[in-house]
Formats: sequence, C-alpha cells, structure tokens
Amino acid sequence: MPVQCSSCAEKRAVLKRPKTGHSLCKECFFWAFEEEVHQTIVSANLFKPGETVGIAASGGKDSTVLAHLMKLLNERYNYGLELMLLSVDEGITGYRDDSLETVKRNQQQYELPLKIVSYEELYGWTMDAIVKQVGLKNNCTFCGVFRRQALDRGAVMLKVDKICTGHNADDVAETVLMNVLRGDIARLRRCTAISTDSEGEGVVPRCKPLKYAYEKEIVLYAYFKKLDYFSTECIYSPNAYRGYARTFLKDLESVRPSSIMDVIHSGENLCVREGVKMPVQGTCSRCGYISSQALCKSCVLLEGLNRGLPKLGIGKHHRLHDKILSQQPLTEEEERKLKAVDFCQS
Ligand code: SF4
Ligand code: ZN
Repeated sequence: MPVQCSSCAEKRAVLKRPKTGHSLCKECFFWAFEEEVHQTIVSANLFKPGETVGIAASGGKDSTVLAHLMKLLNERYNYGLELMLLSVDEGITGYRDDSLETVKRNQQQYELPLKIVSYEELYGWTMDAIVKQVGLKNNCTFCGVFRRQALDRGAVMLKVDKICTGHNADDVAETVLMNVLRGDIARLRRCTAISTDSEGEGVVPRCKPLKYAYEKEIVLYAYFKKLDYFSTECIYSPNAYRGYARTFLKDLESVRPSSIMDVIHSGENLCVREGVKMPVQGTCSRCGYISSQALCKSCVLLEGLNRGLPKLGIGKHHRLHDKILSQQPLTEEEERKLKAVDFCQS
C-alpha cells in the first residue's frame, strides 16, 4: 500500500529520510533538507550580509549540492552574499579534468563566476607526476596538503571573505574517528568546528554549511533535483585509513542511523585536559603560510619532490628540515631513508 507523506499528509511518500526515518514526498523532503541547512547557517552565524563567499567546487555531489543550496538560500532568505565558485585542478587525468567540466557546466547553470587554480601552476607538479614519483600510498597526503593551500591562494586571488566547503556530516564523523584512532589531539579539537577564523595572513576563514547533512540525503537531494554532478571516484584513491573509518561508520549507521550525529556531538564536546601540549602556530619561513614548524608541510613536501626525496614530508623527519632549510648536504643514510617509497598499487 502506498505510504503517505508524514509531513503534508497529502502526497505519496517517495523516500524514507535516512536521518530521521520520516516517510516524505519529494517536495517535503526538499523543504526539510533546505531548511536544516538554512538553520545550520543561521544558528552558527556563518555569513554576514555583504560578504563575498567562495564555494569550493569539485563537481562532486557535495559541492554541487552546496553550490545549488547557497544560491537558493541566498535568494530565498536574502543573505546578501556575493557567491563565486573556486576549484582546484590537481592534475589527475581521467578524473579531475572530467569533473572540472561538470564545474564549468555548474557555472553556467548557477551563473556564478568561477576561478580554477592548478597544482601545476602553483607548485610545478601535477598529481599525475607526483604519483609517478611517490606511488599510490602517500599520494593523498600530498594532495590534501596542497589542496588546502591552493584553496587559500585561489581565495586570495578572488578576494573572497570566506570559503565554504561541501564537508558533510559523514565526513566530519569520519574525521573525528580518524583523529581519535591516530591520537591527534590538535586536529581532534579543531575538526568539528563549523567555521574557522582566519589563522593568519593568506589563510581565508572556512565554513561547512553541510556539516549536519547526511551523505545519503545529499545523494537523494541531488538525485531528485536532477543536479548535474560527477560521481566517479578519484583514480588515485587508496586512502586506506579513511576507508576503514568510513566502512566502520557506515556499519554503525546501518544499525543506528543516529551514530553519525552521535560521533559528531561526542567530538564537539570533547575537552582537552589542561597541560596537553598543542602545536604553536607560526609562519613558514619560506612561503609565509601558517605552520607550527619552521617550514610548512607544503614546502617540505615540495622540497622532497624537487630533490627526489619524497619521504621528506611523510612521517617524522623534522630533524632533517633544518638541514634542508639551511641547504646543508644530507648524509647517504639520510638520503636513503627519504628516497625509499613503499609502492602500494591497491
Ligand atoms: Fe587527491 Fe587522494 Fe582525493 Fe585523489 S583521492 S583527489 S589523490 S586526496
Ligand atoms: Zn611554506
């Protein structure tokens, strides 16, 4: 027997909301989903009228739904924001080149300006070239560090006041779990924040309007709205550790859908004991970007790539950074350690 929408009690329900279990018709689902994101934005005071906001756009479902919602809510509720799309081209043939085509279509559909910054122009390296040198085990470390800085650089070029990213509730919960499993207290404390203040020059404040939106609902929303998005996975995506956290979380979600929100709330309420040492933020002596070390992670990784020592930024080699910084030659043993890369083709 057809189930009636539990919200309007008029139309036929077409879905059961993964987050609440309510059976809803399409229109009531759209409304509920949009209103929740609006509430997230309003209650966390994410934007101020007159601000210019860069939407980090990859062409994937999260950022496409984010761009669609930001435009819709900005008009519906008069946020008074000027919106732009900001994309990073990592240089991944067969993946990013195709997904950027989606972003370019989104730009036309949403009539928003678009800026694309590429790893090649910023760092002189594409991910294709990086993977050739470092293999498929630590490639996401390079990509993640470079992307963070690339978005900031693009945002500075666009002169935006803020960047919003498509991180959803599942992403945040996964990150909480990963930081617990790695014992990374500094990141654990930061990762649930819905917005970050500018941490220094060249670092643009960021926020996550989809922080409480379930991935499954984002997919449903994109599907029923017939949004134009790119759904292929990155060809260099081993990211085993995040994969385990993701599978674990999905298993938890299947027995208890509230697990995702529960993990986020646990992360939000964790408090770090007094006296726990936290990294002190300074600036990179080479590029001026924020860093808790003399050289920022991006500069260390880049130096490693340029010198054919790809392991320099992977693991604990801080002692060697000073040597590198002062252009001192490395011993044979040090070079050997930094050259060895475990190639993992899985
Ligand atoms: Fe970059 Fe890894 Fe993501 Fe691919 S999966 S885009 S290499 S971070
Ligand atoms: Zn640097």
